[in-house]
Amino acid sequence: SQEILSIHDLKTYFPVKDSQGKEVYVKAVDGVQLKVEKGEILGLVGESGSGKSTIAYTIMGMYKPTGGEILFQGQDIGMLSQERSLSLKKDLQIVFQDPGSSLNSYQDIQKILELPLKVHKIVGKGDMKQKVIDMLRMVELSQSYLNKSPSAMGGGERQLISIARALACDPKFIILDEPTSALDVSIQAKIINTLLKLQKERELTYLFITHDLSLMRNIATRVAIMYLGKICETAKTNDFFTNPLHPYTRMLLSSIPVISEQEEAFKPKKIQSTGEIPSPVDIPPGCSFHMRCPEKTDLCMKEDPTMIEASPGHFVRCHLYSRCKSKP
Ligand code: SF4
Ligand code: MG
Repeated sequence: SQEILSIHDLKTYFPVKDSQGKEVYVKAVDGVQLKVEKGEILGLVGESGSGKSTIAYTIMGMYKPTGGEILFQGQDIGMLSQERSLSLKKDLQIVFQDPGSSLNSYQDIQKILELPLKVHKIVGKGDMKQKVIDMLRMVELSQSYLNKSPSAMGGGERQLISIARALACDPKFIILDEPTSALDVSIQAKIINTLLKLQKERELTYLFITHDLSLMRNIATRVAIMYLGKICETAKTNDFFTNPLHPYTRMLLSSIPVISEQEEAFKPKKIQSTGEIPSPVDIPPGCSFHMRCPEKTDLCMKEDPTMIEASPGHFVRCHLYSRCKSKP
C-alpha cells in the first residue's frame, strides 16, 4: 500500500499572554508523526482540546505550522496556505463538525453545490443543474432539495449536503472532523453508512477525527490516539482493541460503554486516572501523561518518551516499552 499523507514532527503553536502578560505558547500540536495510506480510514481519536482539529486545519492550510512537514502525495504542503494550487485544493477536502455554520444560509442548495463545480471548472454551464442533481443523488437526497435553504433542513440533511459539496470535485483525501457528533444519534448511522459507501465506491482515503472509540472499532482501518498535542499510540484496529499498550489508551478503552456480556469479559478493568488534565500552556516536563498515569515511574517525570514500534505496525510512546528499542 501507498502513503497518501505523511506528517513528520508537525508543530502548531499559538502565542497567548499568560497572567503576567508574558508571551507563552499553546502547543496545540507538538511533534506529531502520522502516516495515512491510500484507501484506508485512519481514526484519529482524542478528548476535546487534544489537538485533533488543529492537525486537521493545519493539513488544510488554515493554520501555518510552527515546524515540521506535511507531505501530501509526496509534496510538502505545510507552508502553502493561500498559495495552494487549485489541483491541491481539489484533492484535499474537509467536512466540518457543524454543518449549520459551514453552509451559507443565504444561498439555496443548488447555489451551494454549484460553487465548487464553478471554481474547479468541472462542468460547462448547461450541465450544471444535472450535475448538482447527481451530487444530491450520490448522498441519497432527491432533486426537491435544489431550492431549499440550509436553514429549512435538519442537521443530518445539512451534513449530507456538506459531504456532497466536499465530493463535488472528486477529491482523493477527505478529513472528517467529528462529522456526526453534532447530530442526533438516530441520524448518525445514516451519515456513517453514506460515508462508508462513498469511500468504497470512490476509493477515497479518510482521516476520521472523533472521540468515539466504539465507532472506530467498527469502521477504522487503523487508529491513532492523541493526548495533549502528541500521538501516543497507533495500530491496526484489531491490534489496537485486543492489545492496547499505552496507559492512556487502556484508560479510554476501560470507559467505553459495554455492548454485550461477551465484550464485557474482554474489556480491560476500569482504570482510574490519578490526576488532572494539565493545561496545554503549562505541560509538565517528562511524559505529558504522567500526571494522570497510574503506571508512572521516576523516569516518566524527567524524560519525554519517544515513539517506538513495539510490534510490526504498532507504535507507542511510553517508557514501559522502551526495552523494545533494542529489538532488531
Ligand atoms: Fe505513563 Fe510513564 Fe508511559 Fe507516560 S511514559 S504513559 S507516565 S508509564
Ligand atoms: Mg475539534
